[in-house]
Amino acid sequence: MDEVDILIIGGGAAGLMAACSIVGSDKAVGLSVSLLERQEKAGRKILASGNGRCNLGNSGSLEGHYRGKDPDFVLPVFNAVDQTEYEEIFLNLGLPLFEDEAGRQYPRTLRSDTVHSALLNALTAGNVTVKYGLEVYDIEQSSGSSGDGFIVSFRSSESSHRSEARIEEGFVKAKAVIIATGGKSQAQLGGHDSGYGLAEALGHSRTELFPALVPIELADAGQWKRSSGQRIRASAYYESYAGKRTPTVDGEFLFTDYGVSGIAAMELAEAVERDQSQRRGGLIFDLVPEMSVEELSSFIMMQIHSYPEYDWAELLIGLLPLDILLILLRELKAGEIKKTVNGCNSLALAMKKFSRPVKATRGFNFAQLTAGGINTDEICPETLESKICPRLYLTGEMLDVNGDTGGYNLRWAFSSAYVAGKSAVSTLK
Ligand SMILES: Cc1cc2nc3c(=O)[nH]c(=O)nc-3n(C[C@H](O)[C@H](O)[C@H](O)COP(=O)(O)OP(=O)(O)OC[C@H]3O[C@@H](n4cnc5c(N)ncnc54)[C@H](O)[C@@H]3O)c2cc1C
Repeated sequence: MDEVDILIIGGGAAGLMAACSIVGSDKAVGLSVSLLERQEKAGRKILASGNGRCNLGNSGSLEGHYRGKDPDFVLPVFNAVDQTEYEEIFLNLGLPLFEDEAGRQYPRTLRSDTVHSALLNALTAGNVTVKYGLEVYDIEQSSGSSGDGFIVSFRSSESSHRSEARIEEGFVKAKAVIIATGGKSQAQLGGHDSGYGLAEALGHSRTELFPALVPIELADAGQWKRSSGQRIRASAYYESYAGKRTPTVDGEFLFTDYGVSGIAAMELAEAVERDQSQRRGGLIFDLVPEMSVEELSSFIMMQIHSYPEYDWAELLIGLLPLDILLILLRELKAGEIKKTVNGCNSLALAMKKFSRPVKATRGFNFAQLTAGGINTDEICPETLESKICPRLYLTGEMLDVNGDTGGYNLRWAFSSAYVAGKSAVSTLK
């Protein structure tokens, strides 16, 4: 049976950074480190992140951008890896960061493959043994003359497409284990739920899992087929059937043949998932958020004075993409609306409160994130070590921590893994 000091399970953002953190630590000299990854390639979500640009952080305040049963759980990690330290970690990997006007941080190349390569290069330089196509399916605690540890069982994963003759199965004995198996969203990029089971087998529990940062399907999607691909800048909130509202989200919404996508819509999806009531509520759009109802109404009146012969679609063409405008006018039976102050008011109100019935979210296969995860009250927030099972560390998306769009999720995955790696070294040295 192979023996190793630290075994990392999962080679995504968290697993790769945990390995970098270990090999970059002076105290780690002499420690052996291995990483098992169930796919044939590590870091596939890193490659897909930020539309291939890898939005790995945000220079604004991190507080208030995370959810989970205990949103403050993230704070000790971000105290340990503050903004300066975070930038330095990447600089030490040869990756200076670029920041856009909204504070979103990317590698200065604006290419996620450079982050991917830099992390893997650091693993090679640090002599980390990386094995691909191997899925860990069991972990047991063991005790022996050299101290307590773990016996970790693995086998060729279904996704590894190995021929029968090359199917591998085996065990590794490890003094410390870092589980970094991520969430279950986007199976096509390696999302998998086996990591939760590994933690549960060692005594952990988890909260309910649901897809987050995912497009939303509308119940009236049929009529949006013609407007598929139309983008609008708007603000919107989700209102449950019982009338409970989320805060308003501003940004770009992309209408599609199933419903609505784009970053702003995806931010509202969590509320849709959390809504337990039998009947779904709706998305309420303000299609012209920069104007009040009064301003919008007077603008429409002004248009009528300038172009008295125009129909409603011609009068309002400068406000909304035509296809969306036509849906709105059809629903309002605009042909019956008089070109009076009252008529202008009702059109302005309709544009400021454009309500669409929600059917569902598009589910895990389209979600950027899995919300929910291993209960954080079972993990020490300063070290990421399990409170139940010493020398076991849990990190990244598998924990009950989920962040907003804008770099907050990779910020969590990388920072928590960095802390877990350092803590594992300190325990063994
Ligand atoms: C399309 C897309 C775009 C995104 N863009 C951004 C962005 O721009 N900014 C941002 O902050 N976040 C973004 N995210 C979210 C971010 O990528 C994740 O939060 C982050 O990758 C989580 O890191 P992780 O290491 O915890 O999990 P993962 O990256 O999912 O890595 C987990 C790894 O563990 C492996 N694994 C699982 N189970 C086992 C097992 N039993 N044995 C061995 N290996 C196993 C998996 O194959 C995988 O490689 C995006 C996500 C997606 C899907």
